[in-house]
Amino acid sequence: MTTTVTAYAAPAPKAPLERTTVTRRTVGEHDVLIEIKYAGICHSDIHQVNEDWGQSLFPMVPGHEIAGVVTEVGPGVTRHAVGDRVGVGCFVDSCRTCENCLAGNEQYCLNGMTATYPAGPDGRPTYGGYSTHIVVDENYVLRIPEGIDLDVAAPLLCAGITLYSPLSHWQAGPGKRVAIIGLGGLGHMGVKIAHAMGAEVTVLSQSLRKQEDGLRLGADHFYATSDPATFTELAGSFDLIVSTVSANLDMDAYLGLLAVDGTLVNVGAPGEPNSVSMFSLIMGRKTLAGSMIGGIRETQEMLDFCAAHGLGAEIEKIGADRINEAYQRVLASDVRYRFVIDIATLTS
Ligand code: NAP
Ligand code: ZN
Repeated sequence: MTTTVTAYAAPAPKAPLERTTVTRRTVGEHDVLIEIKYAGICHSDIHQVNEDWGQSLFPMVPGHEIAGVVTEVGPGVTRHAVGDRVGVGCFVDSCRTCENCLAGNEQYCLNGMTATYPAGPDGRPTYGGYSTHIVVDENYVLRIPEGIDLDVAAPLLCAGITLYSPLSHWQAGPGKRVAIIGLGGLGHMGVKIAHAMGAEVTVLSQSLRKQEDGLRLGADHFYATSDPATFTELAGSFDLIVSTVSANLDMDAYLGLLAVDGTLVNVGAPGEPNSVSMFSLIMGRKTLAGSMIGGIRETQEMLDFCAAHGLGAEIEKIGADRINEAYQRVLASDVRYRFVIDIATLTS
């Protein structure tokens, strides 16, 4: 029997979100039913509601930073039990047979992973975490370790893994000079994680407004990119730069900050194309790369890493009635540093 649950949805592109209901499937053999406690607001939610990435599917229930508690399990479930604290990130299924799925890179599933929202590869709609409950196959549900509260854990399911994966892949650690561009939801987790990995961390922010926070979160240095002197002073000085910026940047200017053999990993996802001069890459054997979230195994590794280092997100907890206001503040780079919806307020 399917269940009807309360949710917040954008009824149409760019429309304010409003209360509605959606249907969740019957708990199947390998499914768990999760009572959602908190859902983070990712800038990707805003891109998709605004159709920055092209045509999408409405009504849209965003939310892929989900933390909650298991309230029911199917008869074949072995990985989770009723009462477990769990999380769900950006995808809820994948083909499980392609080489990427088999390698634990389900986010790059060759047959298309099923996004937590707005849809699966077959085009059927899926509904995200701005809702009271969700039914997910046990293999796509993460364990939230003791020691991380559910509210500060929720943003780890996207912001945390999106920074952990490239920092780990490109070996941020002692002796590595790492810069994080943009101190928002993703960027602030990047600072915390890169610092915990032992790297020397620099924040490149539009202004010095967030300097005190950046240093408190673990950055060793903080620079304003609005000051042209930043680009001369820091020329050639980083091994790894991760850009978390939601808008297009002058990539040539930032590639100029890499040392020889350095890598700039772009995780920000503006909808419009960008241009790069090939000379910015060939002068110094530099790499421009991208990275998308992380696989299930790596996401669990990230959660365990965060628990071991006492890391969670810096959050501003809001009621559902403030989602639309929060969207405006994220767009204005005025988020410190992740909005998290208290899901209990959806029905109150
Ligand atoms: P966010 O909280 O809005 O943070 C983005 C930060 O970028 C802002 O706080 C701001 O930091 C800086 N920024 C914004 N506009 C800028 C501009 N025009 N020029 C320079 N800097 C600017 O967003 P988020 O949730 O962290 O997400 C960031 C981006 O990553 C989005 O595009 C999102 O869709 C994408 N994303 C990608 C993945 C992936 O798997 N690759 C996963 C999640 C999200 P300062 O105030 O410090 O300058
Ligand atoms: Zn996200």
